[in-house]
Amino acid sequence: MIQTQLYIDGQWQSPLAGGTRAILSPADETVIAQAAEGTRDDARRAIAAARKAFDQGPWRNSTIRERAKLLNKIAELIDRDAENLARLESLNTGKTITESRTDMGDIAATFRYFAGLVASESGAVNEAPHHVISRTLREPVGVCGLITPWNYPLLQAAWKIAPALGAGNTVIIKPSNLTPLTTHRFTELLSELDLPAGVFNLVTGGAEVGAELAESHDVDLVSFTGGAFAGESIMKAATGNFKRIGLELGGKNPNIVFADADLDTAVDYALNAAFFHAGQVCSAGSRLMVQDSIYDEFIARLAERLPRIVIGNGFHAETQMGPVQSAQQHEKILKLVQMGIAEGARLVHGGKRPAGEIYQKGFWLEPTLLADVSAEMKIAKEEIFGPVITAERFSSEEEVLRLANDTPYGLAAAVWTKDLDKANRMSRALRFGTVWVNDYHPYFPEAPWGGYKASGIGRELARIGLDEYTELKHSYINLAPKAMGWFGA
Ligand code: NAD
Repeated sequence: MIQTQLYIDGQWQSPLAGGTRAILSPADETVIAQAAEGTRDDARRAIAAARKAFDQGPWRNSTIRERAKLLNKIAELIDRDAENLARLESLNTGKTITESRTDMGDIAATFRYFAGLVASESGAVNEAPHHVISRTLREPVGVCGLITPWNYPLLQAAWKIAPALGAGNTVIIKPSNLTPLTTHRFTELLSELDLPAGVFNLVTGGAEVGAELAESHDVDLVSFTGGAFAGESIMKAATGNFKRIGLELGGKNPNIVFADADLDTAVDYALNAAFFHAGQVCSAGSRLMVQDSIYDEFIARLAERLPRIVIGNGFHAETQMGPVQSAQQHEKILKLVQMGIAEGARLVHGGKRPAGEIYQKGFWLEPTLLADVSAEMKIAKEEIFGPVITAERFSSEEEVLRLANDTPYGLAAAVWTKDLDKANRMSRALRFGTVWVNDYHPYFPEAPWGGYKASGIGRELARIGLDEYTELKHSYINLAPKAMGWFGA
């Protein structure tokens, strides 16, 4: 049985209150680990260690070469442990092992990308009189509280840890208490390296640990990925010391198919957009919008494919979709489907636990298609975060644009068309942080990730993903000061 601990000030420690939490396999509800359940007091200890390491330690003054080297070493450790990490991720989240292996590759790539960026850092010299040296310097923000969700536990952590450490900050990471296992294993790997004590701290636990990070005046930045409810309370708490915040929140992402699209590919990707990781993806293409003239055929083609999706244990080679992560999610998704039917949507497939002995334990759901959904229905507006497609019909470009943008969210959208002019118009007019054309899901460490409107504040990845963890300073040095003689000379 795996047992996890906290990592504070360079030491493995138990929570002060001795708390533990049973971690369940989403596939069969067996207990797979006992995780340390930290409290506010543990968060305070970690914050104090990170504060001391930042204020008094050598890390903030380390060279860009040292920091880039650390990130590259972490990437090597991820590669070395990739299969073990992938297995832990699948065990804990239920996602297929193929998806977890992809995540581990992406995580190593993230560390390497930020290593490269950090290594190329240099302050800019500004235009100034000859006797003045004016430079724009980038400095670390300070102590960073990093709070991550349960759907991509280590990937989301990597998007934060790599730039935070790369910029010279000290860190406290708090993974979701449903899925702490890969972040814990990552910390074991990191502890093999000679990072100064207190630079990296792990506190597993629930909302109270996250809330302490958001409220503490000794934390300079909080980066959070999760739902709007917690995001709002973090934003409010952050005003206590006006700490820097980054929020990556939910989405309601339209996948828009025009009549001139390549139908075979669009149908195939509509499934991928919605059922990847059983739909538990912030950018899932769960809101399918199909143009009138192909709508019936599109729904018929989806209906044909849905019963063929192989649902099963993520470790089995033939599995295409695993369970959802928790009992809570399972219940919430089923409720939303029922609400959709009550609102007048047509259930084409799914909407229930699959039949069969192996699906009676665990958080299993059939891939679900609700057709004839209209924009006013709750299921067209709310993030479902499960394997559910809601399909709406539209007639014109203007109409679909208006409907797609009429959401508080703005994370991701996709458009399917062969008309490049239309593709370009739609890409510009859709108010979302990512707009794919004739594709769904790809992202790169080099490209920014984040949302418009209620999908978040700030961006991760790309140059800006490093900049978010830095303060900009104007350094002005007068090499030949002379009295001005303005006042009373
Ligand atoms: P959640 O908001 O319940 O929890 C996220 C994290 O915040 C967890 O670690 C949790 O313990 C902690 N937390 C909860 N309440 C808190 C509080 N009051 N103060 C501080 N921390 C608190 O979200 P979740 O259910 O774990 O994740 C699902 C959500 O995350 C979905 O809405 C999804 O869209 C979103 N998400 C967004 C992105 C993105 O890049 N935009 C990526 C992944 C997930």
